[in-house]
Amino acid sequence: MKNIKNITIQVILLFGFITFSLQGCSDDDSTNQQEPVEDLKLDLSQFTKADAGVMMQAFYWDVEPRGAWYDEVRSKIDDWATSGVNRIWLAPPGKGASGEFSMGYDPSDYFDVGEFDQHGTVETRFGSRAELESLIQKSHDNNIEVIADIVMGHNSGGGKQDNPFRPGDTEVYSLFNELNGNASGKFNRSYEHFHPNDIHTNDEEALFFEKTDLCHDQQYVQDWLWGRDDSVAEFYKNSLGFDGWRFDYVKSFDPKFVTAWNDKVGGFSVGENFDGNQQVLKDWVNASGIPAFDFACFYRLDETLDRANDLTALGTPENMLRKLDPANAVTFTANHDTEKDENPDNRISYANKLLAYSYILTHDGYPTIFYLDYENESFKEPIKKLITIYNTIADGDIEIIIASEDEYIMKRNGNGDNPGLILYMNISNRTKQFEVTSNWANKTLIDYTDNSAATPTADNEGKVIIQAPGKSFSVWSIAKE
Ligand code: ZN
Ligand code: ZN
Repeated sequence: MKNIKNITIQVILLFGFITFSLQGCSDDDSTNQQEPVEDLKLDLSQFTKADAGVMMQAFYWDVEPRGAWYDEVRSKIDDWATSGVNRIWLAPPGKGASGEFSMGYDPSDYFDVGEFDQHGTVETRFGSRAELESLIQKSHDNNIEVIADIVMGHNSGGGKQDNPFRPGDTEVYSLFNELNGNASGKFNRSYEHFHPNDIHTNDEEALFFEKTDLCHDQQYVQDWLWGRDDSVAEFYKNSLGFDGWRFDYVKSFDPKFVTAWNDKVGGFSVGENFDGNQQVLKDWVNASGIPAFDFACFYRLDETLDRANDLTALGTPENMLRKLDPANAVTFTANHDTEKDENPDNRISYANKLLAYSYILTHDGYPTIFYLDYENESFKEPIKKLITIYNTIADGDIEIIIASEDEYIMKRNGNGDNPGLILYMNISNRTKQFEVTSNWANKTLIDYTDNSAATPTADNEGKVIIQAPGKSFSVWSIAKE
């Protein structure tokens, strides 16, 4: 049901004509239109907020060029730092069973980050150990933390071995030593470190790489993963310089093991609990004590934008992790898995990508930017503007003004001198208008995304008519006095 303040229907007739006229303008005309708005912009960098910063997922599936990815990422760091990125997430750094083709999710030797000749290559798909360390140094020089992807559910690439707990099964590859997929000689493994073993038959979910599903209940496995002073966790943190962790596929082991890793080495952490149910995510956050990727937010955005063509569900309470626990929600609109998923229900279409970013970069939660989106020339400038907005005026309490079929309008109330913002998402084909009650009595407003050239002034009660172009969005705040 439409709010009675919604004057959309009345203004469509009037502004349908204006929109039509604007679309007919030449490039020169639209440049002339935007210049005055540019002059009215406040320097947003004067507004700071406690949780400023976004994370860049610095890879996509099957990155190229092979062996030179760390150098490629390194060449981007200056630009990303300027844009407001405060962390980068790298793919699993250890040598995978598929050697130079491995994206790191088939871990064989955790300690070989591109310096041992095995699985057909010295370098990993991403480069050498020296190139990794150089990337980490460059990131630190730019106040960017580097997050390692930790795959500790299963292993690949070991030697064949009889496992007495799998009688008659001759295809068990659970032997990891200097001659069998573990040239570093650290964290050598054998059948008893996998399932089934003398403790039990399996753990949380032994569906994935069942025969080489690591058993974290084995003290030896715990010691090598995080317990010892020369464990994987300590090596990544102290020798390589990683600052934090992204735990892969956490459904495959007990959350207490993530807690134990963090108790040992600390740092920012996030878990990949691949589940669209916000309560499942919240329960895992509570159990592990670390944030989780907000798959519920991702799926609600995909459902509303790509399928239902109806934004009403964005206004539904408690249907995302960020609505239940914003401090522990890491939001995103794409990742290396969703990007290659052929099912459109598992990814947000390119047509709606910027609308999705406008959502995660104005609300609370810690946003992730996907490499291929940011490095897409048609998305880069809009995403940069949204990151600046997120890092400055996306502050204060969230108030949903309307969530209807075509429109979603949300106000952030700011803090102290920080004016906050109003997000206006419009998925109809036409420019829409809406009268909102802002916190900005007698102030002129502008759209800091430059999608709308309007410069409305709020009345002495803060009431003001804002607009958003069709299939687009605007983010309003106060203009220069
Ligand atoms: Zn186990
Ligand atoms: Zn989709």
